[in-house]
Amino acid sequence: MRWGLIGASRIASSFVIDAIRVQDGADIQSVLSSDVERGKAFAGEHQIPDSYTDLDVLLSDDSVDAVYISTTNEKHHAQALAAIAAGKHVLCEKPLAMTLAEAVVMVKAAAEKGVTFATNHHLRNAGSHLAIRDLIVSGRIGKVLSSRVFHAVHLPEHLRGWRINDASAGGGVIPDITVHDADTVRFHLSEDPVDVVAKSGTSGMGEGVEDSVMSVWSMPSGAMVQTHESFTHGFAGTGIEFHGTEGSIFARNVMTQQPIGSIRLVTADGEAEVPFETHNLYHRALGLFVAAAAGNGKPSADGVDGVKSLAVALAVRTAAQTGETTPVDYGGF
Ligand code: NDP
Repeated sequence: MRWGLIGASRIASSFVIDAIRVQDGADIQSVLSSDVERGKAFAGEHQIPDSYTDLDVLLSDDSVDAVYISTTNEKHHAQALAAIAAGKHVLCEKPLAMTLAEAVVMVKAAAEKGVTFATNHHLRNAGSHLAIRDLIVSGRIGKVLSSRVFHAVHLPEHLRGWRINDASAGGGVIPDITVHDADTVRFHLSEDPVDVVAKSGTSGMGEGVEDSVMSVWSMPSGAMVQTHESFTHGFAGTGIEFHGTEGSIFARNVMTQQPIGSIRLVTADGEAEVPFETHNLYHRALGLFVAAAAGNGKPSADGVDGVKSLAVALAVRTAAQTGETTPVDYGGF
C-alpha cells in the first residue's frame, strides 16, 4: 500500500509514519503541507519523495492507494471528501470533523465509493484495553454498573498551540481527549451513551477554549459513566475503572499512546494483576487498516466509530455550555 500524508503533523512524525512503514509492502510517497518549506523539510526528515501544497496534485497520483489525514480538525472534512472522491482509502484523525453532519457525510461518501475509511482511535488497540474488554465480555465482573475514566493530563509545551487557543481549528480538551474516552467506553461496553451532563472550564491553559471537563453519561444498560479530561493536571495520572455486580477492574496509566500501565481485577475470590500484551498501539491500528483495505476484516475503529465518538464529545460540550441534560445525537447511525 502506497500512502500520501495529508498534514505535516507531530502525530505523523511521532507515531504514524513508523506504523505505516512496519507494514509489509507499505511505502510513503508524498506529504501535503500548507507551507512549502515545512513540507520540504518534513519530507526530507522522513525520506518521503514528494511534498506538495496542492491536495489535488497529491490525490492525482495514481500510485497512492491511501491517505492519512492529520491536519488540524477543521480541515479533515474537506480533505477526506476529496480523497474519497479520488478513490483513496482514508485513515482520518479524530475528531473526524467539527460537526456531526460533516462526519456523517464523510462516512457515507466512503461507503458509496467503496473505499476503506477509519478513525485513528489508538486506545482500543492497546493490549491493556483489549484485556479489559476481554474481562468485561467474558463476564468476570458480572453486569457492569459503572465506569470512571481518569484522563486529566498535563499538555506538554510543544503540543499546546491550536489545542489551547484556537476554537476554529478544533481546539479544546473535549475534541482532543473526551472524544478518545467516548470511543474507549463504547469499545468496552459495546453500547452508546444515551445522554450526558457536564461542566467545563479553564484552569490555567485554555485561551478561549475549555481545558478541563467533567461529565456523566447514561448508558442504555443503565450503567453510569463518569469522565474527567484536562490539559492542566501534572500529577493526576490516567486510568479507567469498571465496576460490576461480580467484581471491579482498576486500570492505571492506560489512557496513553504507550503500551504501559497496570490492570487489577478484584472479585469475591480476591485481587489479581491482569497481564496484557505490550505491542505498539499504532502498529496494530495500521495493520488492521491495511488488512481491511485488502478486504480482510475491519479497521479497529471505523468511520461510524468516529462519528459516534464525535457525537458524544459534542453532546458533552453542549451539556457543559447549557447546563442541561443533553441527548446524544448520532446522526442516524
Ligand atoms: P500538529 O500541530 O503537529 O499539526 C497540525 C498541523 O499544524 C499540521 O498539519 C501542520 O500544517 C501544522 N504545523 C505542524 N507543525 C507546525 C509548526 N512547527 N509551525 C506551524 N504549523 C505547524 O498537530 P498534531 O499532530 O498534534 O494533531 C494533528 C491531528 O491529529 C489532530 O486532528 C489531532 O486531534 C490528531 N491527533 C491524534 C492523536 C492520536 O493518537 N490519535 C494524537 C495527537 C493528535 P501543514 O500540514 O499545513 O504543514
